[in-house]
Amino acid sequence: MCFLFSKNHCLHCTSPTEALYICTLMANDNKLAAIIAHCKEYGFIFQSSELYDGLSAVYDYGQMGVELKKNIRETWWRSMVYGNENIVGLDSAIFMHPTIWKASGHVDNFSDPMIDNKDSNKRYRADHLIEGHLAYLGVATEEIAEHPMMVAFEKLLTENNFEGIKQLIVDNNICCPISKTCNWTDVRQFNLMFSTQVGSVAEESDTIYLRPETAQGIFVNFLNVQKTARLKIPFGIAQVGKAFRNEIVARGFIFRMREFEQMEMQFFVRPGTQKYWYEHWKQVRMQWHLDLGISANKYRFHDHLKLAHYADMACDIEYDFPMGFKEVEGIHSRTDFDLKQHQEYSKKKIQYFDNDLDENGKAYGNYTPYVIETSIGLDRTIMLVLSEAYCEEDLSTADKQDSRVVLKFPPKLAPIKLAILPLMKKDGLPEIAREIMKDCIDSFHCFYEEKDSIGKRYRRMDALGTPFCVTVDHDTKTDGMVTIRHRDSMLQERIKIEDVKSIVLKAL
Ligand code: ATP
Repeated sequence: MCFLFSKNHCLHCTSPTEALYICTLMANDNKLAAIIAHCKEYGFIFQSSELYDGLSAVYDYGQMGVELKKNIRETWWRSMVYGNENIVGLDSAIFMHPTIWKASGHVDNFSDPMIDNKDSNKRYRADHLIEGHLAYLGVATEEIAEHPMMVAFEKLLTENNFEGIKQLIVDNNICCPISKTCNWTDVRQFNLMFSTQVGSVAEESDTIYLRPETAQGIFVNFLNVQKTARLKIPFGIAQVGKAFRNEIVARGFIFRMREFEQMEMQFFVRPGTQKYWYEHWKQVRMQWHLDLGISANKYRFHDHLKLAHYADMACDIEYDFPMGFKEVEGIHSRTDFDLKQHQEYSKKKIQYFDNDLDENGKAYGNYTPYVIETSIGLDRTIMLVLSEAYCEEDLSTADKQDSRVVLKFPPKLAPIKLAILPLMKKDGLPEIAREIMKDCIDSFHCFYEEKDSIGKRYRRMDALGTPFCVTVDHDTKTDGMVTIRHRDSMLQERIKIEDVKSIVLKAL
């Protein structure tokens, strides 16, 4: 599927109707298209397998994207693991025993309702189809969830009434955007887990799954980590890793992918204290977002009215993406569901012994801890950071038309922190620039470039989001000073060579 669309028409697809459907859902916003094109042009994100016409909803991170991704991952890890004495990290395998997914409920419950159009052979998620139809009718994105059609859909879904969902689609004359017909199949549940075979001999092989969330790797290692790290409740286990979901309709660039990365933390607490810790983590996680330098009005909490089978409280942190407010992070109070399920299915005791005393002076003793989970998509956070940073500026003056595209990343997230630019390729300027580079390279990511005019080099660094450029010129040889240029203000000042590193470090 292609997302390179303009206001009314996809620039890439042969099928304008398909694009129109997507465009409607994307609230006709050109900003997303501009970000996608920019990401490709400057080496942030490429469509996977582009050489073979692409693989839908799978993306590769290029030389700039991989740095941005690493910096966001590190910012999360630092605040979560290094910033909390009672949280430790884990890196569990993607493949796990298949019974884990039976115990967690994913084999039976991790599914979306889908419907196929018999004329176009296109498959849709029933809720997306209804949402798309409402958007097409002009219902504002923030009003879709409360619209009577959506409320009716949610009720039918809760009752597992798939016939009713089909009837709702037919009664409202919701047609396939491709074939324009209402010739629908029945609604069926579609499991989102990818499966594969383990074992070399086909007859003896077992079906295993690619994990759809990283959380279960934490639950099944609860005792290993608690005992070896000698952790006392409350404590958390954090992990970053790939997750895989066979999304029926994946769209919105890296917003909804089939292979993506999650940053999750499971916080184990004493039963009865979950409300306190749930509120605590809601505030802490929102503050993490605000500390990225993003204003509070770009975020909101969305409390779940319909709770997953394992949760007693849940909410999303939503960000105002170019296509409207959408989930970037989930905070869930998962009760003791997962640990109890793994205890039952593995037939091994999974409990914690709490020797703290209650108000009556009695030890709390053995119990199954409750869990508060914070779960954020790394790729979705990248999209958030790109949406926030992307800026087209008109720099025209009375005599000259001019503009620039600049990525205003917070310096700590920028792929390159400092560009070192000798004004000319000769007269000893490259040697001085290389010396500055040598001094800084161990502390942060630097980039050296001597091609093109200095103006062109500055613009390129703006497009990559580099917060600082220093230029070495002929005067540097005599006065030991360089020009530092600040990305956002474009202000330039002369500073001593010895101060370059500390100025950049201060901004980080
Ligand atoms: P959605 O409602 O958008 O499908 P979800 O509620 O299923 O998301 P969770 O299972 O709570 O999501 O996963 C936690 C986080 O993982 C999400 O907040 C999101 O940032 C990220 N995530 C989930 N699915 C995807 C996906 N297909 N592509 C990219 N990121 C995802």
